[in-house]
Amino acid sequence: MKIVLNDTNEELVNKVIQYGGENIYKCFQCGMCASGCPVAGDTDHKIKRTMHQVLLGLDEQILDKKSIWLCTTCFMCLERCPQNAGPTEVIFALRRISAEKGIIPDAQIEVANNIYHLGHAVTVEKGIKLRDKVGAPVLNTAGSDKKHIDEIQRIINLTKSFKLLKIKKDWKPKGDEVIACD
Ligand code: SF4
Ligand code: SF4
Repeated sequence: MKIVLNDTNEELVNKVIQYGGENIYKCFQCGMCASGCPVAGDTDHKIKRTMHQVLLGLDEQILDKKSIWLCTTCFMCLERCPQNAGPTEVIFALRRISAEKGIIPDAQIEVANNIYHLGHAVTVEKGIKLRDKVGAPVLNTAGSDKKHIDEIQRIINLTKSFKLLKIKKDWKPKGDEVIACD
């Protein structure tokens, strides 16, 4: 890949610092973060590379890609970093910046809408029916009672999340046939 440093965005690192990645300049590219990352081996998400790209101001190399959304936020990189450079916090900051630019993968928009309307990141109807079928006790969850969902919606409505995460009032869940619970 050809990288033209003259085209870099020097604002990116400042924005990352402003949005929570204030220790990013401590990164000395040792790679300890990547060595423990559970998704690095199977996906395009490479945390050491992302740290370097931010420091170089390569915003298009980061924000136009989906890889920052593949981080599971397990905090392993943060635990392992000998410099306390906060790689997970840098990922959070990049996601905030990306969301402000309207760049969010469809899967994240779906999760946000699920939480807003159902109280869950994924639909759980199939699992509830299965519990009922095998005689398992009723499961009380955030989505079991409308008052909990109302509370979730009130909180989200008070933040910028509603707009940033493209939550829709008339959104319909895709259903258990599409998401999890098998
Ligand atoms: S974030 Fe920490 S662990 Fe990762 S490359 Fe930088 S200094 Fe090393
Ligand atoms: S927090 Fe994200 S980047 Fe860090 S180790 Fe976990 S999955 Fe990898």
